Amino acid sequence: MVTFDVVIGWICEVLWRSNFISLAIEECSVEKPFALIVVTILATLAKFMRYYDKSKPIFHTVEEMLKWAELYKSTQITSETELLSYGLSQQLIDELVTVIMRINYGQSKSISGMAGAVSLCGSGGNFWAIEGGNWKMAAGLVEFSNASLLLNGKVTSVVAVDGGYEVGISSGERRFCNAVILATSLDESQIEFTPPVSIPKRHMQHTHATFVRGIINPDYFGMPCAASVPSFVGTLELPSIPFSSLNVLESYGDNDKAYKVFSRSKLTDDLLDQIFSVRKNTVHLDWAAYPHYNAPEAFAPFVLDDKHLYYVNAFENAASTMETGAVAAENVVRLLLLRIRAGCTLRSLTLNCTQDTLEADL
Ligand SMILES: Cc1cc2nc3c(=O)[nH]c(=O)nc-3n(C[C@H](O)[C@H](O)[C@H](O)COP(=O)(O)OP(=O)(O)OC[C@H]3O[C@@H](n4cnc5c(N)ncnc54)[C@H](O)[C@@H]3O)c2cc1C
Repeated sequence: MVTFDVVIGWICEVLWRSNFISLAIEECSVEKPFALIVVTILATLAKFMRYYDKSKPIFHTVEEMLKWAELYKSTQITSETELLSYGLSQQLIDELVTVIMRINYGQSKSISGMAGAVSLCGSGGNFWAIEGGNWKMAAGLVEFSNASLLLNGKVTSVVAVDGGYEVGISSGERRFCNAVILATSLDESQIEFTPPVSIPKRHMQHTHATFVRGIINPDYFGMPCAASVPSFVGTLELPSIPFSSLNVLESYGDNDKAYKVFSRSKLTDDLLDQIFSVRKNTVHLDWAAYPHYNAPEAFAPFVLDDKHLYYVNAFENAASTMETGAVAAENVVRLLLLRIRAGCTLRSLTLNCTQDTLEADL
C-alpha cells in the first residue's frame, strides 16, 4: 500500500532533483535551513519506504539492498559532506545537526549520510509508543509466530556440522539447528564460530544512560535557579562537555524530577554531584548501543558461510534502529526461504521459486 508519507517523499524527491524546492525555498518565508532539513528527511524516508513494497527483490547482500533503494551512496560519505551538498550551512550543521547526532547516535556529524538522515528523522515530535510498553510488540510477535523462546541462556558457540549447526548455550546444552540467524551485533558477543567467520572490523558506540531523580544544580548551567534550567539540554561537540544530552523524563514536583543523561563514558559521582544538587536515586546503564559509524562504510555479508548461517545486523552499518532491524530481518528470512527452496549453497543458487510461494511461507 502506498502511504501518504511515500507520496510526499516521492514528490519531494522529484522536486528536489529538479531544483524546484531550492528555488521555492529562496522565494518563500519559511526558514530555509529548516525547510532543507525537512526535505532531506522526506527524500530519505521515501527511499527507505521502498522496502515495504511487496514486489521488492530478495537481497543477497547489504550493498545490493541499499543500492536498490538508492541509499548506498549515503553510506559512503559523511553526514556533514552530504548535508553541505544539500545547501545546509556549516554553522547549522555544527550547532543544530550535531546536537541531534549526539542525542540519537552518541556521535558527531562525521557519521555516514544515511545514519545521519535516520538520526534527523528521529528529531521530530511525531513519535509513538505501544500502550503498556514497547516490549509488548516483541512479545506479540513471538506469540504470533508460535516460536519457542529460550530465555536466560547465552549462545556461546556455533559449530558447522553435517546438515546444519550445533549451537552451544551457556548452560552447557547443545542444540542442533538446520539454519542459524544471528540477530545481534557480533562485535562484542564473544560467540565462537567453527569454522571462524570473517566480517569487517567495527566497534560499537557505547551509550551510557544515567537516570537521576532529584534536583538539578542551576550553577552548573549558569542559570539563576533550578526552574530556569531548560527541560532539554542538547550539547555541542566540545571536549569540555561531558555529556551528550540531558532531559526531564518525569516531573513529580518543582523540586522533584527524574532526569535522563546520555554520555559516551560513565559519569563519575563527582560530576553527577556538580550537575545535580540533590540525588535521591541514580541508575546507570551501559549499552553497546549502535555501530560507531565511519563512512565509507563496509558491510558484513547477510550469509556468513556457504550454507545457512545468516547475520541480520550486517545492515546496522547503514543505520541502527528498530525499524531498519525489522526490514533487514524480513529480508534475511526471505533469503533463507529462497535458498532452502533452491536446495542450495551460495554457489548453486538459482531463482527457481516464485514470489507467491515465498510469501505463502512467510
Ligand atoms: C539509549 C538508546 C536509545 C535508542 N533509541 C531508539 C529509538 O528511539 N528508536 C529506535 O528505533 N532505535 C533506538 N535505539 C537503537 C535500537 O535500540 C537498536 O537499533 C535495536 O535495538 C537493534 O535491534 P537488534 O534486535 O538488532 O539488537 P538488540 O535490541 O540489541 O537485541 C539483541 C538481543 O540479542 C541478545 N543477545 C546478544 N548476545 C546474545 C547471545 N550470545 N546469546 C543469546 N542472546 C544474545 C541480547 O540480549 C538482546 O536481547 C536506541 C538505542 C539505545 C542504546
